[in-house]
Amino acid sequence: MIALSLAEVAGITGGQTHDIPDSTLQVTGPVVIDSREVKPGSLFAAFAGERVDGHDYAATAVASGAAAVLATRPVGVPAIVVDDVTEALGALARAVVEKLGTKVVALTGSAGKTSTKDLIAQLLEHKAPTVWTPGSLNNEIGLPLTALRATEETEHLVLEMGARGIGHIRYLTELTPPHIGLVLNVGTAHIGEFGGREQIAQAKGEMVEALPAAEAGGVAVLNADDQLVRAMASRTKARVVLFGEAADADVRAENVRLTENGQPAFSLRTPTGCSDVTMRLYGEHHVSNALAAAAVAHELGMSVDEIATALSEAGTLSRWRMEVTERPDGVTVVNDAYNANPESMRAALRALAAMGQGRRTWAVLGQMAELGDDSLAEHDAVGRLAVRLNVSKLVAVGGREAAWLQLGAYNEGSWGEESVHVSDAQAAVDLLRSELRPGDVVLVKASRSVGLERVAQALLDHR
Ligand code: ATP
Ligand code: MG
Repeated sequence: MIALSLAEVAGITGGQTHDIPDSTLQVTGPVVIDSREVKPGSLFAAFAGERVDGHDYAATAVASGAAAVLATRPVGVPAIVVDDVTEALGALARAVVEKLGTKVVALTGSAGKTSTKDLIAQLLEHKAPTVWTPGSLNNEIGLPLTALRATEETEHLVLEMGARGIGHIRYLTELTPPHIGLVLNVGTAHIGEFGGREQIAQAKGEMVEALPAAEAGGVAVLNADDQLVRAMASRTKARVVLFGEAADADVRAENVRLTENGQPAFSLRTPTGCSDVTMRLYGEHHVSNALAAAAVAHELGMSVDEIATALSEAGTLSRWRMEVTERPDGVTVVNDAYNANPESMRAALRALAAMGQGRRTWAVLGQMAELGDDSLAEHDAVGRLAVRLNVSKLVAVGGREAAWLQLGAYNEGSWGEESVHVSDAQAAVDLLRSELRPGDVVLVKASRSVGLERVAQALLDHR
């Protein structure tokens, strides 16, 4: 981060300084919320959680080198006391980004934010120093922490923005006003909390409303293949750039196919030319993510050949997303246990089917959380799709929703041992250990809360 004196931090956050002998002392970063991550010059932001209260770690943080603590009460060590630590972090981020004048690329969507953010970061890194959201730290705390990592060298800031309700994206865009705003898709993730797809579109569209007008350089990058996203063009003053497979998209994929490894290949068409891409990432859903990333990179001046090369080299930066590992005995484990929703389940099953040409395929699936009233129907549909794609074996793991997955498969015609329901991760591991044969491909996927990465890990650890 850029250096700020404690007096400046207090001024920006509207806080009171306490126990500070010399307020010209500087915070040089990083700003952290875990005292174990404190470095000399850090600012330690104390949050009171359900189990632990960051204020209890204030002294430890300062002993480890923190310049001061951002807190809601005096803590006996140098502190800037504010009413609300989250808002104070936001104010700091806003001030720093404004001062630096860094180009901000912000993205949101129901599925693929992190994958696309990682792709954009890998593309832009080819051009100029870039800071991006680590993992999925996309909320009102993670976003400022990321933005505060920017320095004078940083040319691009790539920020994932998540929404769990109306007004969330607006709040985040006010902290770090984007120049380029990207909306990937409107799916059904968190639909239970929102109430419906229209409401999700309403919330995600706040991204394009926040952009500067076209004359002032604002660019809205929108998915041409998603009607609810396309319709957001009417909600922005920014210039609209469309990506997708639709014929009128500015950045387009043609001749899309999956290689026999399940990796997407396509011809990338931009307004300035065409170039071939074969991705290292797995699953056809990455075509859409790659086009979105290409559209952003194209706007920021990269040539189509540079973009195509960088897309073909890009790997995963975040764990448990279609992580493909080949065991010495020839079993392939596809760990996509990071998260799941209906769209990503379908994408992952199609990738599994493509990888399974001539091989036995296993879909080890668990609950998709937060689907509200649609939950039964969505689990049923995923079970059915597994059968239609000729996945050899479905192992549904967990409670009621897993039963619905299996029921879907059963109703689609999978009546024998091809679809089974087991109660928990351990039971799945036991079953797989005794049944897997060399050459099998195993996909492991469920919502984060199910913790199915334990199954993938167990398959890779002990065989
Ligand atoms: P979160 O809301 O948890 O931060 P996210 O939007 O960041 O999720 P990713 O972490 O990139 O999304 O991917 C989540 C899941 O969605 C993964 O299982 C991935 O395979 C799948 N996925 C990625 N991109 C797409 C896409 N464009 N369409 C559908 N599914 C996708
Ligand atoms: Mg994410």
